Amino acid sequence: MPIWYAMAVLLLCLGALPARAAEVADLVLTNGRVWTGVPQQPWVEAMAVAKGRILKTGSREAIGKLTGRKTQIIDLGGRMAAPGFNDAHIHFLGGALDLAIVDLNGTTSLAQIQRRVAEYARAHPERAWIEGVGWQYSALPGGRLPTRADLDAIEAKRPVFLRSYDGHTVWVNSRALEIAKITPQTRAEGFGEIVRDPVSGEATGVLKESAVGLVRRHIPEPTREEQLVALRAGMKLAASLGITSIQNAGGSAESFALYEELLRRGELTVRTSVALSVGPQTTDAELTEFARIHERYKNHPMLRAGAAKLLIDGVIETHTAAMLTPYSDKPDTRGEPAYSAEVFNQLALRAHKAGLQLYTHAIGDRAVRIALDGYEYVKNIAQPADPRFRIEHIEVVAPQDIPRFARLGVIASMEPIHADPGTVEVWSRAVGPERTERAFAWADLAAGGARLVFSSDWPAAISLDPLRGLHSAVNRRTLEGTPPGGWVARQRVDLQRALRAYTAEGAYASFEENFKGRIAPGMAADLVVFSQDLFTIDPLQIGSTKVVLTVFDGKVIYRDAERFANGGEASRNPKERLLQSM
Ligand SMILES: [Zn+2]
Repeated sequence: MPIWYAMAVLLLCLGALPARAAEVADLVLTNGRVWTGVPQQPWVEAMAVAKGRILKTGSREAIGKLTGRKTQIIDLGGRMAAPGFNDAHIHFLGGALDLAIVDLNGTTSLAQIQRRVAEYARAHPERAWIEGVGWQYSALPGGRLPTRADLDAIEAKRPVFLRSYDGHTVWVNSRALEIAKITPQTRAEGFGEIVRDPVSGEATGVLKESAVGLVRRHIPEPTREEQLVALRAGMKLAASLGITSIQNAGGSAESFALYEELLRRGELTVRTSVALSVGPQTTDAELTEFARIHERYKNHPMLRAGAAKLLIDGVIETHTAAMLTPYSDKPDTRGEPAYSAEVFNQLALRAHKAGLQLYTHAIGDRAVRIALDGYEYVKNIAQPADPRFRIEHIEVVAPQDIPRFARLGVIASMEPIHADPGTVEVWSRAVGPERTERAFAWADLAAGGARLVFSSDWPAAISLDPLRGLHSAVNRRTLEGTPPGGWVARQRVDLQRALRAYTAEGAYASFEENFKGRIAPGMAADLVVFSQDLFTIDPLQIGSTKVVLTVFDGKVIYRDAERFANGGEASRNPKERLLQSM
């Protein structure tokens, strides 16, 4: 044959082959109610996945045409699916390590807390320290602070170290105070407090903020291998909850290296970003080192290091959040910021100039204002094109500051689970009735044009489960439905918005909205299937809904064998083969 003809045929084949290959799916999920997060087409029945990406979405018939000999088919049996959850503010390594210590989440009385600690201590004679996490301020009788005597009664020999659910306060026994050599003369450095008996001056056993470090530094650090083991356990838990992306609100080059190791071994089953914890003591060299990691992993589909995490204040429950006016139950204080606005501005500018996105922890309305002012300052000086500055938590915000979020393009990153009405008694007393009307003001912020992003702040939360977060966002009621009218019900958001805040908006918050967070052609094939349809059930059932299947990067990483035994109900299409084993 003529050479030009042969070449033309070859070119045609080369052109045609990849196109045809791309039209066959590795995985098809069909016969479902798939919420895509795409406004133009919010619901589809089926989707095809190839090479970890979504190939096509549409009707069962249309997607059925993309099945080949090797295609895995999962019949969703009419169940609801959605993009995988993105937990946009988390401390994943800490949470993962916590899986091996006393879990105090859900305890509502001192006796319950004591029982759990005693049981754990008995079961773990090998542990030199008894560590726990998750106690709530409201569990103590009359809302009083706990004491070392409460713990000495159950464990006097070994040191006990129990972190509050928000991570800002620690409760220890006498042995721990003794090991840390805390006496009436010991001073807490920086932003913190050793709570003392007003008469004797003795430490009561409660340490706030930086004072926690006085005891913590005596607890042996986990080894690198222990950290990797913990992260694997954490990823397993995340997969079972439908979480396919996490954004660490704090970290270091060292903690980043752990995820790098998991990535290298092919074990990373959650897309991860890490923010560098930054404070006035952070050196330019540290910022530059982290920015270099950021450059190396820029646009990486699995792992990123693009942000800096700053912190302005503490928490409301211990009166360490910085408020514009005094606390209602402690009128002599309004909480002080960790550092001045001027120091914050310079720190934010330095981190921004290093090339890092900014996250700032700001809980009180004064802290939120300092953060907004600081971001405005950085914007005016550096004129960034698309900085996506973030403020984290925003538990109280002044009404006049709400429109500034939209104006400055600042993302409101918040945790619906923190507004679970079962945990807000001490909080409400501290801020008083007038400010409580603006508690966790999701609806006001959304109405003011702010982009809402949701997360758990795990382990500083009563639950990592995004469905618990959605439940709180939509209902402002506990799992049991209290209070009946909802706690500050005006600040509820609808399910669509709450789901977006847990998916597409989370992707936007890490500059990945064109890659993940929606179920659409070309997007990462990360998705979650639920035991029931969140849109048709009583909204009070959202929190008890279970994840039955999680797909990450086109592969099944979690399946609830009981609720989703054979990949769903029998297919109505005889040509579709059921996936029997995943
Ligand atoms: Zn946090």
